[in-house]
Amino acid sequence: MAERVIPLHDQRIAALAAPRPAVAQAPTGRLFDALQRPLRDLRISVTDRCNFRCSYCMPKEVFGKDYPYLPHADLLTFEEITRLARLFLAHGVRKIRLTGGEPLLRKNIEQLIEMLAGLRTVEGEPPELTLTTNGSLLKRKAHALRQAGLQRVTVSLDALDDAVFQRMNDVGFPVAEVLEGIAAAQAAGLQPIKVNMVVKRGTNDDQIVPMARHFRGSGIVLRFIEYMDVGSSNGWCLDEVLPSAQVRARLQEAFALVPLPPGAPGETAERWGYAGPDGRHDPALGEVGFISSVTQAFCRDCNRARLSTEGRLYLCLFAERGYDLRALLRAGVSDAELAASLAAIWGSRNDRYSEIRALLPPQTRRSARRIEMSYIGG
Ligand code: SAM
Ligand code: SF4
Ligand code: SF4
Repeated sequence: MAERVIPLHDQRIAALAAPRPAVAQAPTGRLFDALQRPLRDLRISVTDRCNFRCSYCMPKEVFGKDYPYLPHADLLTFEEITRLARLFLAHGVRKIRLTGGEPLLRKNIEQLIEMLAGLRTVEGEPPELTLTTNGSLLKRKAHALRQAGLQRVTVSLDALDDAVFQRMNDVGFPVAEVLEGIAAAQAAGLQPIKVNMVVKRGTNDDQIVPMARHFRGSGIVLRFIEYMDVGSSNGWCLDEVLPSAQVRARLQEAFALVPLPPGAPGETAERWGYAGPDGRHDPALGEVGFISSVTQAFCRDCNRARLSTEGRLYLCLFAERGYDLRALLRAGVSDAELAASLAAIWGSRNDRYSEIRALLPPQTRRSARRIEMSYIGG
């Protein structure tokens, strides 16, 4: 078994100064990185706090009572987030996902959603607006979120069995309340709903088939996510990754599945549909997705930028350092200057960690300075 590394220090030390190009060109909606990947998807982390302690994300030993969360003054305000989002949209972003930590813990999140929903893409359309949540506050908030302009939600749920789920969230949170949250989201029209299940070998892999059986035919898309080596506090080791191909094989022992064409470019999930008696995909039974970030790199189409709670722009989930956009915002730069800085940052992007992971020396792979999932939000 590989050695586990659980460093106890704060991960967020290093920031890069955002470039300030001398000449500012107006955004054209067509911005490409150094590997010719467009900018399409913006993930915004709105808090670094969470009410769960999932062992693969915020293990209690690291995220204890004394963990130094960001003080409120360090967080981007809703106005700052909205201003940046507007400029990202001008550069070609079409989809905005709010995340965290647990995004529903951010006070007045509905207000931010309303502000973001009022923005437009370069095509003049409202941005696709969605949110990833652990579901714990969804029952209470689903209706207000929908009213504010949220279109969809993705809910994380790792097991149907209460004992397994409570062990994984490590705060004793019951499955039933997440399921009630999902039902409330459905009733509020936050559709189509996706459910994300992180699969850890030996922890919840016995839940694969029960989860599939539960969501089959419900209109909800269940997606299986390979346990990733993000951050440095979860003590990740390869032995605990169950490759998607094996997850699919287990499902195929219970259900007939047929491959479906890929979704939009940059879509991370491989799609498989449940087949009806004629052997063809039966849309009424729905589909499942596999996100294979460990065994199958999808960097080639990666069009995602990530904005941290304190306004740092990360170009990859596995980046060590982000660009300090908050410093620019609070220095009073103009929209044109901010847009030019975003263009310069994205234009120089060449990250493709998942593709080169296997080639990296082990000490680089387990760098203690890598950002945490709870900080950047997945
Ligand atoms: N708290 C919210 C939630 O759990 O949905 C949003 C933030 S969470 C960091 C976003 C997603 O990242 C969740 O679906 C979670 O399961 C996933 N995640 C966290 N750590 C992970 C890891 N080590 N490997 C794979 N997925 C992970
Ligand atoms: Fe919280 Fe989500 Fe991380 Fe679990 S995965 S600890 S719910 S941020
Ligand atoms: Fe994108 Fe980085 Fe993940 Fe590759 S490793 S898909 S570049 S976030």
